Amino acid sequence: MTHPTPAVRDRVRTLRSEELPAYIYDLTALQEHVAAVRAALPSAVELYYAAKANPEPEILAALRPYVHGYEVSSGGEMAHVSKAVPGFPLAFGGPGKTPAEVAQALEIGVERFHVESVYELHLLAELAAPYAAERRIAVLPRFNLPVGDGSLDSVSLAMGGRPTPFGLDPSQADEVVRLLTDGTYPHLELRGVHAHLASGLEATEQLAVARSIVVWSMDLAERHGVRIPEVVVGGGMAVDYAEPERRFDWASYGTGLAELVAAHPGLTLRLEPGRALTAYCGWYATEVLDVKPSHGEEFAVVRGGTHHLRTPATKGHDQPCTVLPSDEPWPHPWPRSAAQGERVTLTGQLCTPKDLLARDVLAPGLRAGDRVAFELCGAYAWNISHHDFLMHPRPGFHFLNGIASGAFAGPGASEEV
Ligand SMILES: *Cc1c(COP(=O)(O)O)cnc(C)c1O
Repeated sequence: MTHPTPAVRDRVRTLRSEELPAYIYDLTALQEHVAAVRAALPSAVELYYAAKANPEPEILAALRPYVHGYEVSSGGEMAHVSKAVPGFPLAFGGPGKTPAEVAQALEIGVERFHVESVYELHLLAELAAPYAAERRIAVLPRFNLPVGDGSLDSVSLAMGGRPTPFGLDPSQADEVVRLLTDGTYPHLELRGVHAHLASGLEATEQLAVARSIVVWSMDLAERHGVRIPEVVVGGGMAVDYAEPERRFDWASYGTGLAELVAAHPGLTLRLEPGRALTAYCGWYATEVLDVKPSHGEEFAVVRGGTHHLRTPATKGHDQPCTVLPSDEPWPHPWPRSAAQGERVTLTGQLCTPKDLLARDVLAPGLRAGDRVAFELCGAYAWNISHHDFLMHPRPGFHFLNGIASGAFAGPGASEEV
């Protein structure tokens, strides 16, 4: 669901002006979506949630019945996630892990380390030495693999297949496998291979990428005569902001992954999406303060802006939105400002022309006091925004519905935080 769900719509309408803007999450919508994702995946495929997409504790907890674990990329995320969902498996990734972060991960017993460089491997080995008697540390080196046919060239956030600071160069693979298997570091275990090569891929492209990661990994294992039981093929499943109803095709992706694991008995595949799991469950709701003409166009200024919802600014898109016209009488003696034409550009309160939320929105007659719910605000939205710029008040946060146990309790179950 992308247009506001009934519960969200209701909340947008009933909040007072001063309670806007607000982030409103529908946790039932989130759980239904992720349950469907899980249902599309074969059992040999594990689903981890990349916490950086949206680490709100309520979101992490709502996801818990449907995911196998969480991918964290900093000491901060690690501490936060292990508090929000205690005892759940964590994989620790990200470039530039500090000694303190690695020590913290060992201390709290993080299940898997996605090692991004040879330096990091040595660092981990050194810091893990005191734990050698009690456990072996599972290491999944992250590789920046060539994708070969240039299929990622058009992708906005390519992290692999070209020079980037992410992961190990494939030329270092033999050295890393040797260090992990020749007795140099017996307290470390080569558990698998990790790759996260791009964001914004459709199912067909994702499958091609997954296949090439698996083929490359099995080849590496064979060359060294070792077993590589796990392969992480990353996140980056596409979310289409221009056509929000068009979702990533989990069904065909799942079918393709099933064929892939069937060809490699004993192999566990792991996915770690962020955006495609949570984007759809969040709305940034606000109110039109003013509507005015400017040099032949019309602008509506809303409460809030890109300091709360930076997504359209960073991705250069128009955030999809739904207008909920106000049925309140206008309380002032002067006329209500209203759009004269069909299309209005929605901007925020910041004193910069970059504070654009959506251009040329079809909103005939849009008036001051009307409400607007921006969609696809459940990922990379509030948490990537520059909240303090201009010192406007922070938005409210509302978490609607949701099922704590994992069994759908039906539409009556409302758990408001
Ligand atoms: C950001 C990130 C993800 C999640 O990417 P999405 O595009 O949100 O699915 C997964 N793995 C790694 C290593 C990442 O950095």
